[in-house]
Amino acid sequence: MALKTPKEFIESLRDGRVVYLDGERVEDVTTHPKMKVAVETAAFDYEMAEMTEYYDLAVVEDEKTKEPLSRYFHRPKNGEDLLKRHELMLTASRLNYTTTPFAREMIDSFNGCAVNAYTMGNKDYIERVDAYLEHLKKNDLSLAGAITDVKGDRSLRPGDPKQGHPDYYVRVVDKGKDGIVVRGAKMHITASPYLNEMIVMPSRNMTEADVDYAVAFATPVNAKGIIQIAHPFDWHRGSADFPLDVPVRSHTDAVVVFDDVFVPWERVFLCGEWQQAATAVYNFAYMHRHTAVTYHIAWVELIVGLTQAIAEYNGASRAPNIREQMTELVYYLNSMKSLARASCMDYVKHGGIAIPNPVTANVAKYFYANNYNNVVKIVEDICGGILTTAPTYADWQNEETGKFMEKYLGGKADTTAEARLRVAQALRHYPCLGTELDVNNIHAEGSLMAARMTMFGEARKDLQLYKQLGEYLAGVTKMSWEEYVQLCNELGKLGHGSE
Ligand SMILES: Cc1cc2nc3c(=O)[nH]c(=O)nc-3n(C[C@H](O)[C@H](O)[C@H](O)COP(=O)(O)OP(=O)(O)OC[C@H]3O[C@@H](n4cnc5c(N)ncnc54)[C@H](O)[C@@H]3O)c2cc1C
Repeated sequence: MALKTPKEFIESLRDGRVVYLDGERVEDVTTHPKMKVAVETAAFDYEMAEMTEYYDLAVVEDEKTKEPLSRYFHRPKNGEDLLKRHELMLTASRLNYTTTPFAREMIDSFNGCAVNAYTMGNKDYIERVDAYLEHLKKNDLSLAGAITDVKGDRSLRPGDPKQGHPDYYVRVVDKGKDGIVVRGAKMHITASPYLNEMIVMPSRNMTEADVDYAVAFATPVNAKGIIQIAHPFDWHRGSADFPLDVPVRSHTDAVVVFDDVFVPWERVFLCGEWQQAATAVYNFAYMHRHTAVTYHIAWVELIVGLTQAIAEYNGASRAPNIREQMTELVYYLNSMKSLARASCMDYVKHGGIAIPNPVTANVAKYFYANNYNNVVKIVEDICGGILTTAPTYADWQNEETGKFMEKYLGGKADTTAEARLRVAQALRHYPCLGTELDVNNIHAEGSLMAARMTMFGEARKDLQLYKQLGEYLAGVTKMSWEEYVQLCNELGKLGHGSE
């Protein structure tokens, strides 16, 4: 068991995986001019373990072997563990130029499988998830989470004969002595073209009719039959842009096709137990919605910083309307931070694993996603039209035009035109204004509706308790002092590690 260096991680990706991008097979994801940026983005997770000042955050001691291992491989036992993980993800995103490395964050999906195994009390599954965790630790692997099925007709269940074909959700097509064969496709899978392993799990609850679709497993991404079609991502830099010293950081996502992929039994974590599909995916989602709000904090910090800068450059930062809007941004950012931390502190335990509070984690995800477009509106308003109408760096370099840009595009006396243009460029380029991040905020880690539904579903018990409180204090119902104290105690115990 040894920690991999960033170089060893990058080398481990040269394994014959089948990845396509822009109409061509990518022979080597580590050197392909477009994929390389994403590989480096993920490799930061391994770099962080080599940075002395962040070692204790990124690395923990294995409880059994006492060897060093990535914090992501430590199964959270309490709120402290969750808060440390939160701090790791947020610090890594900040250090990685506001982009999460995403090399191990999808341990959330594997933990969803582990919760499932333990809550089922299924000895085989428990042995397998424990053995797989050892495999991850021993080889210091990175992993993607493939949950979202391509789904076909959304109004139909996976196994409904009215679906165009039976493979819109990943399913088991064969079972043998040594393992299973799976077919289907997942979509939007972040970073899977340049990570080592993939955790595949159902994207929804299942019924008895969907028995073949209730399947969860781990596979190396280079397994025979896995074909990934990645999408090109915005480089954010071109010859018309002001040059920057900081490197580009970005991820891409893939359509992952499982063209009759063999999975050995020891890597199968669910196979046919349709009643358990929801437990697996919901537990993944509780963890992952916390992950989502955490890494988005780093992006929002940048957006707020750029907006404050342009407000000052424009000489408008003290105006009441701008202050009011900046206050709104501060409220947004700090609510995200507080909700993310609160979901850790108010953790629950499922199958012995600490999970961010299911209601609060969904409130956090919903809060930032639902309010993000308002934030964009504020930022666009504060920046003014220069955000989209600014001439380019090429015009800046052209002496016929550059001199006029320098003279006329400045702001406050102590501010250069170049600073204003650079801030506007950064706001355009970081995926925050009506482009990639718009969609990411709404859909990554689950649509708005998914968070609302889970929030409500998970809050049912809470709502009944609040109702009892309201009815008693309104004089609609009666209770003794002891019963009232008991009710208050129950309200205080929501979350706090309750099973
Ligand atoms: C940048 C990005 C990164 C992502 N990374 C990952 C990843 O790493 N792994 C992963 O597994 N997934 C990932 N996702 C997928 C993400 O979880 C999904 O995009 C999200 O769950 C929505 O699914 P969909 O895109 O298929 O949209 P759809 O399911 O087509 O939903 C579109 C709309 O239709 C509504 N809708 C859908 N079905 C129904 C229905 N039956 N009844 C009523 N309304 C319905 C939805 O609420 C939504 O409003 C990522 C997505 C993005 C954008």
